[in-house]
Amino acid sequence: MAGVKQGDWVVAAADQVIAEGKRRGPDSPLVCASGVSPSGPIHLGNLREIMVPHFVADEIRRRGMECKHILSWDDYDRLRKVPAGLPASFAEHIGRPLTAVPDPCGEHENWAEHFKVPFRAALAELGVEVTEISQTEMYASGAYREQILHAMRNRERIDAVLGRYRTKQAQTAEAEPDDDEGDEPAGNAYYPYKPYCAACGRDTTAISSFDEGSTEIRYSCQCGHSDGFALSEGNGGKLVWKVDWPMRWAYEGVTFEAGGVDHSSPGSSFTVGSQLVREVFGGQPPSYLGYSFVGISGAAKMSGSAGGAPTPTDALQILEAPLLRWLYARRKPNQAITVAFDQEVNRLYDEWDALGRKVAAGQAELTELAVRERSIGSATRTLPSTELVLPFRTLASVVDITTGDEEQTLRILRDFTSDPQLADLDQVRPRLDRAQAWVAGYLPADERTQVRMEPDRARLGQLSPTEREALKLLLDGLDEHWSLPGLTSLVYGVPKLQAGLALDAPATPELKAAQRSLFSLLYALLVGRDTGPRLPTLLLALGTERIRTLLSVA
Ligand SMILES: [Zn+2]
Ligand SMILES: [Zn+2]
Repeated sequence: MAGVKQGDWVVAAADQVIAEGKRRGPDSPLVCASGVSPSGPIHLGNLREIMVPHFVADEIRRRGMECKHILSWDDYDRLRKVPAGLPASFAEHIGRPLTAVPDPCGEHENWAEHFKVPFRAALAELGVEVTEISQTEMYASGAYREQILHAMRNRERIDAVLGRYRTKQAQTAEAEPDDDEGDEPAGNAYYPYKPYCAACGRDTTAISSFDEGSTEIRYSCQCGHSDGFALSEGNGGKLVWKVDWPMRWAYEGVTFEAGGVDHSSPGSSFTVGSQLVREVFGGQPPSYLGYSFVGISGAAKMSGSAGGAPTPTDALQILEAPLLRWLYARRKPNQAITVAFDQEVNRLYDEWDALGRKVAAGQAELTELAVRERSIGSATRTLPSTELVLPFRTLASVVDITTGDEEQTLRILRDFTSDPQLADLDQVRPRLDRAQAWVAGYLPADERTQVRMEPDRARLGQLSPTEREALKLLLDGLDEHWSLPGLTSLVYGVPKLQAGLALDAPATPELKAAQRSLFSLLYALLVGRDTGPRLPTLLLALGTERIRTLLSVA
């Protein structure tokens, strides 16, 4: 696949990364990095941490160059708090590394793995290839031993750099979520390293001394335990986050990274890290993009994740993978995006399908073409798509009306398709399954369609002569107009016929009013409400026999 030439944000970022690589030297690799803390459910906001570097790495690969995308699991971080929806008893483990906290469900190796597993599966479904790095494994294996000793020997320089920003932060009174780490008071007592206590396993420790010759540290823990070990041999702790981040830029040779807007402001961890990597670790900061929030519409009615924000796994139950990629690709990282779980999901699918039709018709602009390319797959893989595309709202209505009955669904969907006609429900999968999951999980009970079992005889007995005539015209025209476009023209056309006009006569305000009252009559007689799925869809779904039963005047 050729590189996408048009200048969207991905192209601009890839250009910068390639330039940064050249500046660093002819053999320097291109490395895009993401960092995720598996401390709780990894939600759709966290997914942006992966998708922004993914699109950049993917664009570089499309140009035929190698680019590594690393996913650094910050699983050696302390458990800060127990996320909503998980047993409060886990509070006992606050302060321990995420890989040392037990698995909440009993099926995984530990707490961190419990949250990594579903996220990993979602990435695979999204066609995102990453090289995973566990920070627990890195620290526990002593991989960073030299870097830790270097940071400890340079602790005063680090402290001085951090100090420049401590003052600024005190002035603006702005704090970051990560500021509970690595910002202990300036002075002799500053250490950029935090040991996990050998007795209780928590990081509620304070270093009391460091011997540069023997590299031995002594610490005491809030649990009462005091201990020590030589940093040249032992591995029981980690660099504080603001130092850890730039250390890893140098260690991995990171050329691109993205971070939440809270890490991107002046005086933020990125600014501080940029100075530390240059002044202390002899490296360069990566090319960087700050990304904005991911909003959720309809989250309140969610039936997915227990209590927390929805995850990529939840989203992929109702959104096709290319559509989810598209939501993250189409906006610049600094723009907020919204993932819909409510009725808005219909509009997202409509927009996505409209883009597909535009591309197929050869009418798409280059930026639209580029974003569609990035959405349907990666440089190495095209994602599965639905063979026969029907509007999501149609599938959802049909599934709603048939309550998922496959035979009935197939019969109805055949009436919606002509060229080619649907032979097998697999042709409308995976979209049909997404529609089914949406109706089952996110369509509120009071918005579900309940088709009348028996005709509403009371209402049918009170019809006005005009209503009576309208129903007769509709029933008489059913067979001739039995298709989606046919029924559309029929239901809108009945009031026109009554006014002595042709079916395709232009609508007037009077006709529109007559159409509205006919529609509410039909909804009342068919589903016992004032509204419902689009009428042509509903009629096709019901079938002529059922319609005649419910609409015929005895
Ligand atoms: Zn588990
Ligand atoms: Zn302790």
